[in-house]
Amino acid sequence: MVLGTASQVPTRHRNHNGYLLRWDGEGILFDPGEGTQRQMLRAGVAAHDLNRVCVTHFHGDHSLGLAGVIQRINLDRVPHEITAHYPRSGQRFFDRLRYATAYRETVGITEAPVAADGPLARTGGYTLEARKLSHPVESYGYRIVEPDGRRMLPERLAAHGIKGPDVGRLQREGSLDGVSLEDVSEVRRGQRFAFVMDTRLCDGVYALADGCDMLVIESTFLDEDEELAVEHGHLTAGQAARVARDAGVRHLVLTHFSQRYTDPDEFERQARAAGYEGELTVAHDLLRVPVPKRR
Ligand SMILES: [Zn+2]
Repeated sequence: MVLGTASQVPTRHRNHNGYLLRWDGEGILFDPGEGTQRQMLRAGVAAHDLNRVCVTHFHGDHSLGLAGVIQRINLDRVPHEITAHYPRSGQRFFDRLRYATAYRETVGITEAPVAADGPLARTGGYTLEARKLSHPVESYGYRIVEPDGRRMLPERLAAHGIKGPDVGRLQREGSLDGVSLEDVSEVRRGQRFAFVMDTRLCDGVYALADGCDMLVIESTFLDEDEELAVEHGHLTAGQAARVARDAGVRHLVLTHFSQRYTDPDEFERQARAAGYEGELTVAHDLLRVPVPKRR
């Protein structure tokens, strides 16, 4: 769910950043810029829907909304714990935003700052990883990886005469009467999602994007302004699309647009010109983008 798509300053049509990923019953809020609380309302997202907040870096368009969202979580007495990830180097900014004004704290917010590349959390359904990006202030991108599973193949099961409760037994025990799980199933690749915001091209961008089913990535600039992009630590539409093409991304979501551009279609044209052939969305506020079905 796209809550906002503007970089730096909101426009009449674009709120500051904000994205909610719904993943196996969890809600993960990325980069809540100013106005995110109200965008959540407009999008039908409640404070109760949140389990995790991930902030890439402490520029206002990615974090000013923390103050409002955190107070709303407490006002609504969200019954579960919420975990917040953000660059440890910005702890003082997080502290200020968390305690920007007086309110009654009712909810446990676990602070889990990021200081290095690698896994941040493992749940039953996924691993959350961070990779450092390249921006004037320290910035981390995030990646969610579901472990691979196995898909049972009915015709192979039938060929081996395995049916009914024996199928479950084989899945639990790995083999049954000389038939192994590998004989009657195939790998079901886990889904992958990455969130890459505010960076120049760097190793982290490629590592995060690698093999993603969905990549949400900034394309602040159009290709003709690549010099500006490099100078300010951003990507162009063409750069983002080439990353997605080379990484085998299935659905590319471009966002975080500079207010200097008026025609969103130009981002799409440049992404296609860069050779990206997968599904492509040029994000706008309050757009719902489904993660592609498992392969
Ligand atoms: Zn930004």
